[in-house]
Amino acid sequence: MSVMDIFETMDYGPAPEAASPALAWLKEHQPFNLFINNQWVQPASGQYLDSVNPANGKVLTQVASANSADVDAAVAAASAAFEKWGKTPGHVRARYLYALARQIQKHSRLLAVLEALDNGKSIRETRDIDIPLVARHFYYHAGWAQLMASELPGYQPLGVVGQIIPWNFPLLMLAWKIAPAIAMGNTVVLKPARYTPLTALKFAEIVQESGLPPGVINILTGEASQVGEALVRHPGIKKIAFTGSTDVGRSIRRATAGSGKKLSLELGGKSPFIVFDDADLDSVVEGVVDAIWFNQGQVCCAGSRLLVQENIADRLLSKLLIRMERLRVGDPLDKAIDIGAIVSSTQLQEIQRLVARGVEEGAQVWQPSWACPTDGYFFPPTLFTNVSPASTIAQVEIFGPVLVAMTFRTPAEAVELANNTRYGLAASVWSDNINLALDIAPKIKAGSVWVNCTNLFDASSGFGGYRESGFGREGGKEGLYEYVRHAWEAQLASPSGYTPTGRAANGASSSSFTDSLLAGIDDELDGLSAPETIELPAIDRTSKLFIAGKQARPDSGYSRTVYDPAGQAIGEVGDGNRKDLRNAVEAAHKASGWATGTTHNRAQILYYMAENLSVREDEFARRIVQQTGRSHVDAMSEVQTVISRLFSYAAWTDKFEGGVHRPPLRGVVLAMPEAIGVIGIACPDDYPLLGFISLVAPAIAMGNTIVVIPSQIAPLSATDSYQVFETSDLPAGVVNIVTGERDALSQVLAEHDDVDAMWYFGTAEGSKRVELASAGNMKRTWVNYGHTRNWLDSVQGEGQEFLRAATQVKNIWVPYGE
Ligand code: NDP
Repeated sequence: MSVMDIFETMDYGPAPEAASPALAWLKEHQPFNLFINNQWVQPASGQYLDSVNPANGKVLTQVASANSADVDAAVAAASAAFEKWGKTPGHVRARYLYALARQIQKHSRLLAVLEALDNGKSIRETRDIDIPLVARHFYYHAGWAQLMASELPGYQPLGVVGQIIPWNFPLLMLAWKIAPAIAMGNTVVLKPARYTPLTALKFAEIVQESGLPPGVINILTGEASQVGEALVRHPGIKKIAFTGSTDVGRSIRRATAGSGKKLSLELGGKSPFIVFDDADLDSVVEGVVDAIWFNQGQVCCAGSRLLVQENIADRLLSKLLIRMERLRVGDPLDKAIDIGAIVSSTQLQEIQRLVARGVEEGAQVWQPSWACPTDGYFFPPTLFTNVSPASTIAQVEIFGPVLVAMTFRTPAEAVELANNTRYGLAASVWSDNINLALDIAPKIKAGSVWVNCTNLFDASSGFGGYRESGFGREGGKEGLYEYVRHAWEAQLASPSGYTPTGRAANGASSSSFTDSLLAGIDDELDGLSAPETIELPAIDRTSKLFIAGKQARPDSGYSRTVYDPAGQAIGEVGDGNRKDLRNAVEAAHKASGWATGTTHNRAQILYYMAENLSVREDEFARRIVQQTGRSHVDAMSEVQTVISRLFSYAAWTDKFEGGVHRPPLRGVVLAMPEAIGVIGIACPDDYPLLGFISLVAPAIAMGNTIVVIPSQIAPLSATDSYQVFETSDLPAGVVNIVTGERDALSQVLAEHDDVDAMWYFGTAEGSKRVELASAGNMKRTWVNYGHTRNWLDSVQGEGQEFLRAATQVKNIWVPYGE
């Protein structure tokens, strides 16, 4: 082609990256074995799997197919390594992470080419985005290893962590998982995705080169049914970190229920890309390219739903069609292509199926005039218009380069459309009016919101979902808590027994436990007069349920008798059922304005509750004595602790702040802790008032509205609290109380699709049932696995752990500059 021709067409020439160094590396190592204890070990099955280049369908190499025997061996190696690694000083761990980051940079080109070959993504993206972010992740977490002792005092690593990663960002997901885990002192067994194991194997070689102690990082290639499931079920594993599809995430939630394994799930999405009429449309077009055609659209947070203000829709769509025509699909190793290959034929067929479905459902499909290469798994950039919000393509994650466009008229309608999804991973908002953009961002139910930008990631800024996009955060300080626990958690007592009449099975009520906890406090309370005999009120009324700010009769028409420790009836409470819970959840939703009101207002109401309770502290103490048989002094100290706790959460209301992250970007990332929504809470049996308020207060302090099941054996302290709530100006529906059988009611709440999180403090079996039932809408759970914490203690019974459980962090990215 002459220079003249080039000027005529202004077409790109080929700019291929050489594959030869990566192919030579593959040849030298094949077949690849498993990486256990810093050794390359043959798989127990003796079997190997092909790894295929999706750009041409050719086999690149063979990797070992591990099975459960290999999982056992890797977990044993990681457990042995944990003994030492968990106690290795933070500075030493930091140096290892730093060494890994350095080695990744040294091998960056090889890693970039391997990733492009194995996954089909373009070399431009692997070279400029994936691999630099991988190195950054290790550097950033080297810093947290260094600072762990000072910044996370009282926390310790969990042990062996099982990590399961997907194929869309193979090495980046490995870094997101491994870096925080080992920085916090855990050891790791990681399973790469079946389609994309190669960069993980190169990383294993880097681990060896960096001199990490054997067993700290173990990598098992193989199939989900062999390796993934065995990891999830392995009793030696203390936490599972998973990224992948919502369906598999749900099955992992079920498989780990009740096991006590920590779990973080980063799942699918159907993220909105919202364009207001004052946005700069040329920037928007480039934003759309990055949102949905980056990584062939195989991005969990891809902006796959384009929501455009109606008056600019035609203009934007015509610009977009012109841009689509100019996109280039082709060989991932060509530096001048925009879109590479789809990872596998299965994924390609799935995209084709969903696109055909869109056409069947009546949407209008747009694709460029040119054809994709046919020797690999390619799919052209695709746009759908005339899409109904309820249609399959508007609701289902397509995980390919397919965008669906819809229009809205007002900001409120934009928010409604944006939130019309079961997912909640990310969103991007385009407007030149910063006031509007920052007003919209908090209203969108998503873990990351990008303002006038999209698909930005950094180790410093947590990433993770709301709703069926999963729970837990990766990155930032918030991501570290996924890999640690309080040192005292290891010593938590097992549950006291429980019988339906309300007495502890050992016949001792909770007094021996309580007595020892209260020993110190008794001295302080010596001055208080403590009547030895308590006058019991006659059973003159049944405490009703408390729903929408009103006392409500239970739907069942039944009551439950409450007994004192001697077996004497002391009162009755309503026997709540599914219908009462449904009304309570509805009331809690209607009170959602609680979250958007000022923190000052919420703090005032909590202080007011403390004040109103203190006026009646003797009455509340007597009620505790009556239900538990504890001394009046004990009971008074419980009430005093409750008053102090209400003060604490009133104080925290406007002090539990987010942060401003510092990624390498001209801009800010605002990390805002937000209310989760409606939380279901099942209270512990010990400490009828303190157990109740210790959970209610942080939940409402952070703006949640709640449905609470009080202690089943001693519910009267909670039902007495109605009057305190009513006299403290707590808006109707913020706290709803349903008494009854704790485990049955918890199950209903855990299954309820409109409950966003469930806290459960009861038995081990009940904890398991709550975790199992929560898998329906992937709600966040916080359960005690039957362990009893010391509610009187200010470390175990209150503080930031509770506030973190009551919030989810949203990261709002706001770049600036001309
Ligand atoms: P999966 O969720 O099946 O795979 C993700 C990872 O989990 C892989 O390592 C996989 O292993 C492993 N895995 C699969 N099943 C189990 C199991 N039962 N127990 C333990 N581990 C398991 O995703 P797919 O690869 O099948 O992709 C399907 C869809 O998932 C995509 O179309 C997309 O919608 C979504 N997805 C979302 C991602 C995200 O980032 N949120 C990433 C990838 C996919 P193996 O590879 O061996 O099957």
